[in-house]
Amino acid sequence: MELSENNQPASALIAVVGAGTMGASIAVAFAQSGYQVLVKEANDDFLKKGFENIDRLLAGRRKKGLSEEESAEIRARIAGATDYEGFADVELVIEAASENIEIKKAIFTELDEWCNVDAVLASNTSSLSISQIGSFTRRADKVVGMHFFNPAHIMKLVEVIPGLETSHETVRYALELATSIGKLAVRVEECASFLVNRLLGRYMNESLFALTAGIATVEEIDKAVSDYVMPIGPLALRDMNGADIGLAVASYNYNEYGPRFAVPALLSEMVEASVLGQKTGGGFYAYDKETRKRAGVNPALEPLLTKALAKDPTCEVLKEFCNKENLAESLFLSMINEAFLALQERICMPEDLDPALMAGLGMRSGPLELASSIGLPVCLAELERRSTICADKGAFSAAERFRPAPLLKRFVWAGRSSVF
Ligand code: NAD
Repeated sequence: MELSENNQPASALIAVVGAGTMGASIAVAFAQSGYQVLVKEANDDFLKKGFENIDRLLAGRRKKGLSEEESAEIRARIAGATDYEGFADVELVIEAASENIEIKKAIFTELDEWCNVDAVLASNTSSLSISQIGSFTRRADKVVGMHFFNPAHIMKLVEVIPGLETSHETVRYALELATSIGKLAVRVEECASFLVNRLLGRYMNESLFALTAGIATVEEIDKAVSDYVMPIGPLALRDMNGADIGLAVASYNYNEYGPRFAVPALLSEMVEASVLGQKTGGGFYAYDKETRKRAGVNPALEPLLTKALAKDPTCEVLKEFCNKENLAESLFLSMINEAFLALQERICMPEDLDPALMAGLGMRSGPLELASSIGLPVCLAELERRSTICADKGAFSAAERFRPAPLLKRFVWAGRSSVF
């Protein structure tokens, strides 16, 4: 399927399966770029809720300057369905249904039956295998991951992930299509959490270890990180998504990658105590239940920190090398190391890595630029020093978190101080 010459959609029909958090915003992302969109939900009630989601997103856009007329035009481009009758004319389907492999299997089996043989079937999954999803169809060459970021009608990044059988043509089509709606589309090879969330996960964990070790307070950690390079601190971000989601993601990464993705005990303590974040009125911070406005650090956190430290006393080893002065660089050292591991696995092109992290997370500089500004030999020496101290103190799991990526060593051995 080709885009028109000026890379603008003609009257292409895009279908979105699922109109929850992501599906609704993906539908708006395409409709606001001129595409006709067909949204399919599980039943009438969910479809109604889906359109309420879409209306809420458009109301948000109007507050930011979208005219009533444009808003109505975008809304008119989105049609709804609870079955696959209208899918014969669709050229691309983006599945954004619940993150459950059985649900995805049922959906892709149906899509394969109903869609034209040329149609591309994409999944917005965050953690399931694109290769496995492809195996549910007779067109694995036309199945691809298109991983949008929340909210998809605003966030610039789309990770395009080929499965084992996905054709070059399908990847090119997905990249072009995402570009046609104003996204930065980056090809990312299939790996757990893909690129951006994989790197994010390392630094999110490290911030929880630092908090548990008592290196800095909740507010100091968030301030250090937002002053350094992030639009929002890791603890405020965790409160937005919820400690339950955080624990699920951290456990998934640990299962896939092993000890360097060790799960901070604090997350399980928070989940057990239902101190989840904004959704329960308190996480790292306390929140006003009505307005969700932040109201200082959550007093319920203190006993959970004590319990977490008792479960994971090796946390304290961080005090040997991490302090308030080097806090931000310390947290990002783990992300930098993971970036080199990802490059070593050829998960993306080196030149795509920083732009992807910047577009996906709103970072002001990407990890490779940070590494270059610190100096690659300094990054390597610091990682080696930390890893050795942890091992000497018997904190072997922590030592794994700082084990330098072999590719970083090779850069330094080659005499390079910066990446590019
Ligand atoms: P959600 O729970 O908000 O929405 C899922 C929707 O899918 C629900 O409305 C549900 O009714 C619908 N659904 C379930 N079965 C269906 C079927 N057979 N046909 C049609 N609709 C069906 O979930 P979400 O957060 O929007 O996540 C959707 C997908 O996007 C998941 O795969 C998730 O991993 C991925 N994702 C989520 C985020 C995020 O920040 N929430 C970011 C990137 C990717």
